[in-house]
Amino acid sequence: MSENNISIPEIKFTKLFINGEFVDAVSGKTFETIDPRNEEVIAQVAEGDKEDVDLAVQAAREAFDHGKWPRMTGFERGRIMMKFADLIDQNIEELAAIDAMDGGKLFSWLKSNDIPTVANFLRYYAGAADKIHGEMLKMSKQYQAYTLQEPIGVVGLIIPWNVPSTMFFIKVAPALAAGCTIIVKPAEQTPLSALCYAHLAKLAGIPDGVLNVVTGFGRTVGAAISSHMDVDKVSFTGSTEVGRLIMKAAAESNLKPVSLELGGKAPLLIFNDVDVDNAVDLALLANFYNKGEICVAGSRVYVQEEIYDKFVEKAAEKAKTWVPGDPFDPNARVGPQVDKRQFDKILSYIEHGKKEGATLLVGGKRFGDKGYFIEPTIFADAKEDMLIVKEEIFGPVMSLMKFKTVEEAIEKANKTCYGLAAGIVTKDLNLANRVSRSVRAGIIWINCYFAFDMDCPFGGYKMSGFGRDLGLHSLKKYLQVKSVVTPLHDSPW
Ligand code: ADP
Repeated sequence: MSENNISIPEIKFTKLFINGEFVDAVSGKTFETIDPRNEEVIAQVAEGDKEDVDLAVQAAREAFDHGKWPRMTGFERGRIMMKFADLIDQNIEELAAIDAMDGGKLFSWLKSNDIPTVANFLRYYAGAADKIHGEMLKMSKQYQAYTLQEPIGVVGLIIPWNVPSTMFFIKVAPALAAGCTIIVKPAEQTPLSALCYAHLAKLAGIPDGVLNVVTGFGRTVGAAISSHMDVDKVSFTGSTEVGRLIMKAAAESNLKPVSLELGGKAPLLIFNDVDVDNAVDLALLANFYNKGEICVAGSRVYVQEEIYDKFVEKAAEKAKTWVPGDPFDPNARVGPQVDKRQFDKILSYIEHGKKEGATLLVGGKRFGDKGYFIEPTIFADAKEDMLIVKEEIFGPVMSLMKFKTVEEAIEKANKTCYGLAAGIVTKDLNLANRVSRSVRAGIIWINCYFAFDMDCPFGGYKMSGFGRDLGLHSLKKYLQVKSVVTPLHDSPW
């Protein structure tokens, strides 16, 4: 099959990947994964449940307790991870097409950005795998000690659907480097690329049982992982609501540590001194990139009063360049929302915005009559107490508000239970750095947005979670420290 001259790959992997083999679910059940471009079924995928999680954990436990992976040198693990990265590079087009079809993400962006980047995540952590060191402690005259940085064990990685490949490797790459063994639960909306990665991991030489993938639903597979007595850690990215359930399940089972990257409602503060055209472009990117399905979307746009009217006018004009369309069409900039549930939820927020009295500048409805497309939408003159300003919409909906003073901007930016990201746009770098210190968020972008890098830690303040993905901070999440103490006799020092 071919669309716009891009070949749509055959779906080869639809079963669970446990202990190095693709297997059916114990129940034999499957679920449909839907193409959001046309609402058609792409494939039937194995629907895992508690019994399948038990099998995957058993395999991961065996691989951790008795297998080679945690025991080989970091250098050897790194070499295998490098090979895994090369195999991804050799299959970029196919992997990009799978995520575009399964999740409605832009093919061109996946091909040029997401998929090459995940191969580099593997390389980055592969390079760190042989640099995991403890320290030597002098202690008192009677003792000395050293610390070991040991892999934390069997880890459960529960990931969302908005950036399926990125989320897979943001968690899998550091966990592999640390020497952990893994059970990944991809989101039920986008299960397909994770299964391709399982296949490539095996080809790269990752031993059986080290990387397992159990597809299925959150309330069954996700809940079984987070409450499992033999899972040593859970790393989760998703909604704040589900993060709470995971933490509760961890506390009520074996008290496994969890790290949570949750929802957001990022403020974007735009000061009087900016070039309005550039600031509008940045605000549109912060809201419409990945069709707004991104936890760091800068959906609360605060514009200083002197430029507010001009900003509103230009935003309405420039929004037209964010054209919705098939993610395989090179002219499209906004693909379909991932599924019907998200599509309905976003449209209902838009209706709230209209009823609550915000001014609808552009968009505000479905695009076309097939697929889950929504017109990029902008509300002006929004207010802090409106639902569209308070809650995470996870769609292409931007709210514009006005502020007068720097203090007011800071106060408004912090008026949220979330704290994942924030943006500041101004020519005054001192002002930007000063405001950065007062805004409570895990990442602050000054005169840029979505500037992620594998070396730059990322995670939340407040109800956006805790723990950091990316960078060497993330590697630490998959390690634990052991102190080994020995006596020291007759030392004068
Ligand atoms: P969203 O609301 O954006 O779909 P979710 O937080 O519901 O995000 O989903 C993120 C991931 O969490 C998915 O893989 C989903 O299946 C999983 N999940 C959902 N409910 C639970 C649960 N009760 N326990 C564990 N994982 C869950």
